[in-house]
Amino acid sequence: MSKVIFHTAGSGPDAQPGASRPLGPAKDTRGRPLHDLRISVTDRCNFRCTYCMPREVFDANYSFMPHSALLSFEEITRVAGVAAQLGVRKLRLTGGEPLLRKNIETLIAMLAQLRTPDGMPLDITLTTNGTLLAKKARVLKEAGLSRVTVSLDSLDDALFARMSDSQVSPATVLHGIEAAAEAGLAPVKVNMVVRKGLNDQQIIPMARRFRHSGHVLRFIEFMDVGSTNGWNMDEVITGAEILQRIHAEFPVVSLQADYRGEVAARWRYEDGGGEVGVITSVSQPFCGDCTRARLSPEGRLFLCLFATQGHDLRGLIRSGASDQDIAARMAGIWSVRDDNYSEIRGRATVARKKIEMSYIGG
Ligand code: SAM
Ligand code: SF4
Ligand code: SF4
Repeated sequence: MSKVIFHTAGSGPDAQPGASRPLGPAKDTRGRPLHDLRISVTDRCNFRCTYCMPREVFDANYSFMPHSALLSFEEITRVAGVAAQLGVRKLRLTGGEPLLRKNIETLIAMLAQLRTPDGMPLDITLTTNGTLLAKKARVLKEAGLSRVTVSLDSLDDALFARMSDSQVSPATVLHGIEAAAEAGLAPVKVNMVVRKGLNDQQIIPMARRFRHSGHVLRFIEFMDVGSTNGWNMDEVITGAEILQRIHAEFPVVSLQADYRGEVAARWRYEDGGGEVGVITSVSQPFCGDCTRARLSPEGRLFLCLFATQGHDLRGLIRSGASDQDIAARMAGIWSVRDDNYSEIRGRATVARKKIEMSYIGG
């Protein structure tokens, strides 16, 4: 793609592309830079995790997006390339289940060709439920993927089947994690959503399983994403409580964040057993450092995981817009962003009709 050149002043929604100097990094109303782009490549999944895609809603009658509505790989790459000109350094492919998107490695190879204004490649990662990972890890790595995050909520067969509402065994996911590490997609991050009374008894077994493994386990507080998962604060175990339980069994010490906008608070086992993290979107919001935009499968740009509305980019792209036009639109959208959902979470916000996690990705 061509290098995007235009005035920084007037980068609002109606900004006109000019031709003077490169656009500086986009900043929102709270001074948060646009640093990460999460790209949801499909709204489909082979699991029906009860906290994400409850089968009562996502059943045989549910209307998933037709393939023609999805952004093509060329269109996704174009948006990502423009985003890189606006400051994005990190891409995360997600979904739905991203490994269900046919030839996803082709998209990764295209994204791997992109460069920042100072000539650096982007960091490309992917979040997956791990079912297809053992088969695909090597081609993903060869295409240019840097690392993977794999979701795993339980080591217990019956509980895993219940939570994912699938016939898949955790052994399949563990196999995928090992294959990813062997392929060089390391360190592998392992995400466990903790739901009180359901899988909190798995906190210690999971910590034990992943200590000294080279993989980094991260516990995620159960969140009120979307409006179908019946979220209730009573089912949230806070990151502090999770850490207390771990510390009582395996002492940990706090680590500094690696970079601004890192979502997980990081800890290390005192005995050298590696690292563990907690993602405390509910109990300790991190909106002040949130540098993430999200692109939906059909090309709408969302500024928050808990948003109710997105901004259509597909229409702009398919109407023949130039890279400059797309950049001006994205910079304008970002410049008026004031999202802070987790800071204002309450009864009223929980009841909003928010986008679903399986549509926009984690
Ligand atoms: N299908 C892939 C997977 O499961 O890894 C990628 C998409 S999934 C929506 C991304 C992440 O969101 C997963 O780690 C999943 O556990 C997490 N997630 C989904 N619903 C959640 C919820 N209600 N609260 C917290 N995390 C959730
Ligand atoms: Fe699918 Fe991931 Fe949602 Fe589970 S969390 S239903 S694997 S998209
Ligand atoms: Fe970012 Fe929205 Fe989450 Fe806050 S609630 S950290 S703004 S995604």
